[in-house]
Amino acid sequence: MKSRTTKVTLAASAVTLLCVGASLSASPQVIAETLGRDVHAFAPMDPSTYPNNTEQPPAKAMDAATASRQHSTMTKNGSWSASPAETEPTQRPEAPSSTVEIAGSGDPEPSEEPSVEPDPQPTAEASRIESKLSESQPSPEPTKAQDAEEPIPEDLESPDSMTVIVNKLRPLPEDFAPDDLVELPDQMGTDTYELREPAAEAAKELFAAAREDGIELTVVSAYRSYAYQQELYDNYIAEHGSEVTNEMSAMPGHSEHQTGLALDVDSPDGQHTLQQSFGDTEAGQWLAEHAHEYGFVIRYPQDAQEITGFSYEPWHLRYFGEQYAKHIAEGSGVAETEFGLPPAPDYAS
Ligand SMILES: [Zn+2]
Repeated sequence: MKSRTTKVTLAASAVTLLCVGASLSASPQVIAETLGRDVHAFAPMDPSTYPNNTEQPPAKAMDAATASRQHSTMTKNGSWSASPAETEPTQRPEAPSSTVEIAGSGDPEPSEEPSVEPDPQPTAEASRIESKLSESQPSPEPTKAQDAEEPIPEDLESPDSMTVIVNKLRPLPEDFAPDDLVELPDQMGTDTYELREPAAEAAKELFAAAREDGIELTVVSAYRSYAYQQELYDNYIAEHGSEVTNEMSAMPGHSEHQTGLALDVDSPDGQHTLQQSFGDTEAGQWLAEHAHEYGFVIRYPQDAQEITGFSYEPWHLRYFGEQYAKHIAEGSGVAETEFGLPPAPDYAS
């Protein structure tokens, strides 16, 4: 943990300008708008493709179904790139950590090298998915392999699963809204924010634990509905045009905030709000070290954009529950990698 934390924070400022540079040089109104959402950089995407989960299954099913076979043949065909170290966010060896990646656009071959670590867990998950999705595909892997010590969630698909994975290739349905949202206590943020109940309870514990260590945290965003994300997105288009918008605002359906399991945190001083420099602060470092103890992970760690699709966001926490958060944090730090999912560097086109 410590080594990753250090690594993460060292490169933070170098990459900071990517996410919020444009908003900070813009009007206060822009900054205010930014507070309501992530400032991801995005590439344009055909809007007709994103809300429909069912458009992805061919690729997803193929990836899942072939993952186990690829695992078993990986050392023979050598087509998978090995990860440099177990404790670092998985990345392609040729991508130096100092490189500022603009919305994945600099990647000449974003989806051809799944940087999944060759450990047995993704194989087992892939085997499970394979047998579920494709009955005719016999799984060569023994199904019992996975011990309880490094578990893989059973449900990465259902929108209301605590372990659902949402990324640029895995949108949520437009009509999905969690049915167990609760308001966070007023003192946790300057506005009213909602999370799903288990995540809200965990967030309270997280904030309390931080306070005991002398770290004050505040919420700056939590649950965001599809409609709200659409509204933000449309307003942004109208004001700034599509080019700027697609670099800064998530397309509706692709924001993890719609799950009700994600929140953005800040220090009360607001000096590093939604900036990568937040990772350098005491609060940012405390979160990187302790969030998983309360069921949260830094969902978009440094140097993982080619897998997660998003640049480093030290402020964005995602609730997975203690068991899985620990598994992710003590592994590569990247949920997709630990759960055996293919990289999602960009939207499907
Ligand atoms: Zn966020």
